[in-house]
Amino acid sequence: MISSRDLSILNVMEPIVSHLFEDNYVKTGALKCACDKCQLDIILLTLNHLTPHYTSSQAGEAYIKAHYLEPQLQSDVLREITNAVKVIEEHPNH
Ligand SMILES: [Zn+2]
Repeated sequence: MISSRDLSILNVMEPIVSHLFEDNYVKTGALKCACDKCQLDIILLTLNHLTPHYTSSQAGEAYIKAHYLEPQLQSDVLREITNAVKVIEEHPNH
């Protein structure tokens, strides 16, 4: 039996996309509109275009530490973020 506290599920792409977006777009001031709505829309659009990778929340942190700095992962994620930024800048949801 799996007790309920072991059922916490994490898509590790979520924190990875958030961090890369924050470091490469938010902190650098590269966004046309950096309101919360646009930031969330960009992250959601990016995540919908990436294959999710699920782990338990406990294992997630180790996975992120081990893979966050991989150039291939970063370039795949950054490519999708860049596309999403373009789409949301052209069609902001407000
Ligand atoms: Zn906005």
